[in-house]
Amino acid sequence: MTRASYHNHTVFSDGAETPADFLRQAVAQGIEILGFSDHYYREGPGAETAPEWALQPRLDDAYFQNVAEVAAAAPIEVRVGLEFDWLEGSAAWYAKPAADPRLDYAIGSVHFVGRQSIDTDRAFWGGLSADELNATHRRYWEAVRDMAESRLFDIAGHLDLCKKFAFYPTEDLTAPIRDALDAIKAADMVVELNTSGWAKDCRECYPSEAILRACFRREIPVTVSADAHRACFACANFPRAYDLLARVGYRRLARFRGRERFFEPLEP
Ligand SMILES: [Zn+2]
Ligand SMILES: [Zn+2]
Repeated sequence: MTRASYHNHTVFSDGAETPADFLRQAVAQGIEILGFSDHYYREGPGAETAPEWALQPRLDDAYFQNVAEVAAAAPIEVRVGLEFDWLEGSAAWYAKPAADPRLDYAIGSVHFVGRQSIDTDRAFWGGLSADELNATHRRYWEAVRDMAESRLFDIAGHLDLCKKFAFYPTEDLTAPIRDALDAIKAADMVVELNTSGWAKDCRECYPSEAILRACFRREIPVTVSADAHRACFACANFPRAYDLLARVGYRRLARFRGRERFFEPLEP
């Protein structure tokens, strides 16, 4: 099984290193396939600015060029992706960039409920009433469903991110989670086991084991990601992730190249 890591951020969004620096360290760690997936956030069609933590519109081409240059000189395989920040209605203006022929894969991630970020501010969660907390979780899953139904993306990023700060719903969310997973299956997407959650307040990978089991029952393929913002974390907790997936029943991992998906045996 090749050592692959697809969900990584560089200075083109909120990562700490340039693609070249990231690659150098990834090679030293024994990574064999390295993918970059900087944040792509646009408020609407033709947006000329983006928040500082996302790829700036004027740097779109520079991002692809820089990664292509790094890839051409790299001793390992390099892939280029983007992590699209799903916003209500964004299918209208993400359709074109998500179909960019330069992309090896596109990650669809929900970080916002309405225009409220759910993963940056613990105080936001602390200020919610029980009803608001339940509604935020429910709306998160509805946004995941909408993101999948757009059929623009290959990978569903960090499912159940809404648990990050360990504020859990008191309402039964079986139905919206089921609908979101059914939409992911219908769109033939891959779910990533994102290891970054193990280092957050929730102390759990994204998604939870229960949701991974629900994915397995639907025969939704998986990949393992670190969501690294520094190269030293590019394979953080991967052995733990492989063990968990094997326990759930998975026997293979998805890989990506030029929008093609293929599989390798999972070897924990
Ligand atoms: Zn993300
Ligand atoms: Zn990310």
